[in-house]
Amino acid sequence: MSRPIVATLDCAALRQNLAISRQAAPNSRVWSVVKANAYGHGIERIWQSLSDTDGFALLGLEEAILLRERGWKKPILLLEGFFNSDELAIFDRYRLTTSVHSNWQIQALAKAKLSAPLDVYVKMNSGMNRLGFQPEQIHNVWQKLRALENVGEMTLMAHFAEAEKNSGVLEPMKRVEQAAEGLDCPRSLANSAATLWHPETHYDWVRPGIILYGASPSGQWQDIAGTGLKPVMTLRSEIIGIQNLKAGDGVGYGYRYHAHEEQRIGVVACGYADGYPRHAPTGTPVAVDGVVTQTLGAVSMDMIMVDLTPCPQAGIGSKVELWGNQVKIDDVASAAGTVGYELMCALAPRVPVETL
Ligand SMILES: *Cc1c(COP(=O)(O)O)cnc(C)c1O
Repeated sequence: MSRPIVATLDCAALRQNLAISRQAAPNSRVWSVVKANAYGHGIERIWQSLSDTDGFALLGLEEAILLRERGWKKPILLLEGFFNSDELAIFDRYRLTTSVHSNWQIQALAKAKLSAPLDVYVKMNSGMNRLGFQPEQIHNVWQKLRALENVGEMTLMAHFAEAEKNSGVLEPMKRVEQAAEGLDCPRSLANSAATLWHPETHYDWVRPGIILYGASPSGQWQDIAGTGLKPVMTLRSEIIGIQNLKAGDGVGYGYRYHAHEEQRIGVVACGYADGYPRHAPTGTPVAVDGVVTQTLGAVSMDMIMVDLTPCPQAGIGSKVELWGNQVKIDDVASAAGTVGYELMCALAPRVPVETL
């Protein structure tokens, strides 16, 4: 028998999460964000379940080409645009919408030989100081681009640094307002957090990512528990060994856990080489035979140890859920000092994936 670890993708949940995102922003069109190979889920595996979307947003040309080759006809937005002017031929051939965040890209667009104009997302820096033009440059940039034959429809895009906070969109929204004053421009501002919690940011296109996959943009499952959003990925394995500890016995590398009394523990076929976070401490939630228990000691490359005290019936072959519906990826991530986004993206290639 092969190693029992497997990731299962629930495509019905994906469809439902898209529907919920749409209901949250009923007057906007939806870019489904599928960057980083659909947050680790595999763009090839999941894109058809999201085919109700109005467009796909991503970063890699290979992924964009894959979608076109599979027959996707609706828009594709490259969130970081083109990285050098040679790529414009591919944008042209596959009819991709490009973000424009820097002056050199305007010059490249001016010089390019295209078969038809490309749609452009003008990226504004609304305070995060990642990509984008300063608010006071927007009028000028807009006019320069508007004058180019190579430019089709234009949309103003910005991104929030802390949309999961109550007042997190106020200041950036003010900057967008000021920058856009007097411009008649469609806008796209909202990530998942803003899609769920800040209707005033919705405008023409929203850009949900993490909520499509059923995790919380705030890192707290509680914050989306009442929305109907469902985890798409379940990571499962099995118990492959049992140890009966005496008081004082150590567990795993560095003996990071010691038993206080007699304790039965299970060894699970899952480690950091599968994408389980190495920094998950003793106490990270995990479910064995449907019972929520905890990890013990350090995570190894290929194994973790778990407490079987709450599930005395468990033995070799018992089913283990590392994350999914029972153990939320947000809870594993927060125990390990990270976010669900990172755990999804880090699912290792050696883990077999099944779709439901
Ligand atoms: C990743 C990304 C999103 C989606 O963010 P979520 O928090 O996953 O919803 C939206 N817009 C841009 C520009 C992004 O880079």
